[in-house]
Amino acid sequence: MNRYTFVFQALLLVAWSISAMGTPGDSVKERPLNIILMIGDGMGVSQLSIPYYFSNHEPVFSRFKHIGLAGTSSATHPVTQSSAAATAISTGVKTYNPALGVGPDTLPRRNIVEIVSDLGYQTGVIATSSVTDATPAGFYAHVPDRYMHREIAMDLLESEIDFFAGGGLKYFIDTTGRDLFREHGMTVNFSKLQKIEDRDPELRYGFLLAMDRMPAMLEGRGDFLADASEIAMDFLSRKDSGFFLMVEGSQVDWAGHGNNTDYMITEMNDFEEAVKRVLEFAEQDGNTLVIVTADHETGGFTLAAAGDYQTGTDYGTIEPSFATTNHSAALVPVLAYGRGAENFAGFYENTDLFCKMVELLDPNQKASRLTVPAY
Ligand SMILES: [Zn+2]
Repeated sequence: MNRYTFVFQALLLVAWSISAMGTPGDSVKERPLNIILMIGDGMGVSQLSIPYYFSNHEPVFSRFKHIGLAGTSSATHPVTQSSAAATAISTGVKTYNPALGVGPDTLPRRNIVEIVSDLGYQTGVIATSSVTDATPAGFYAHVPDRYMHREIAMDLLESEIDFFAGGGLKYFIDTTGRDLFREHGMTVNFSKLQKIEDRDPELRYGFLLAMDRMPAMLEGRGDFLADASEIAMDFLSRKDSGFFLMVEGSQVDWAGHGNNTDYMITEMNDFEEAVKRVLEFAEQDGNTLVIVTADHETGGFTLAAAGDYQTGTDYGTIEPSFATTNHSAALVPVLAYGRGAENFAGFYENTDLFCKMVELLDPNQKASRLTVPAY
């Protein structure tokens, strides 16, 4: 082999090595089969910090390695309501504050549940509020006003949702005695959470365990959120087609509105327990992306040192406090774990959560705010 042949062969080897590595940015191997989106309603960074100071275990949030911050403003206001925020995350469209699943023109926009259901995915929503409240409803309903609970309930029946759990039974009761659930191919349990043994792929299943909202943790809700998440993950994996599940810790927001520290701490620790169970599933499954985020911050909550800066600060004592009984415009945390998690690092808008999730579940969609079709 002369010198030139050697150099030529070495170059060929380099070229082959580069092509074998794939094109830069090729993330096919990193696509998840399932996405579990967990929303702490009203959960800003101070709320997220609660388990670091008010629990006696290593906070599960530290196991997330890809961290982002998302802007939450609506199309009309710097401070959003849950409805506009849920619509932004579920449809990629910023809208006016009380809008749910519709754009600024009040026309319906396609949401991620509808998009991935068409691709064969199983879908579910879980909340500690009524399932017709703004955040869960943002993933199946299309109404011009978030307080249209009856219309929202009818949208759930007509939707592609395969599993749901939460409160809100009163919005589904038909005064003429019709069984609306049966008419829509749904089996609903009104008494207690339990594993769903029926694996019929056509079955849609729900748990409605309160007439309106679920009880607060302080009222004895127990492990509802974590248990319902486990039951949902088990049920939605009955087909190997993949699933999308939204889990909401709804009452973190209500604790913020009420400026109630004990309520806040117990609801955040409950949400963290649900995140822990979901992460355990994802770690074992190896095929699941878990995203933890919020729709907005509520209460201007802070973990301040006790005392007064002028007269004497007690740096050894945390005295949680609130700046407002309203939502705030603060950016919200985004934590991502599992396949595709690296896409969620950085600063972006809440609408980008939709684009990133849909691109991962449907690479051909190339979702963007500009190309999302109206109905
Ligand atoms: Zn709120």
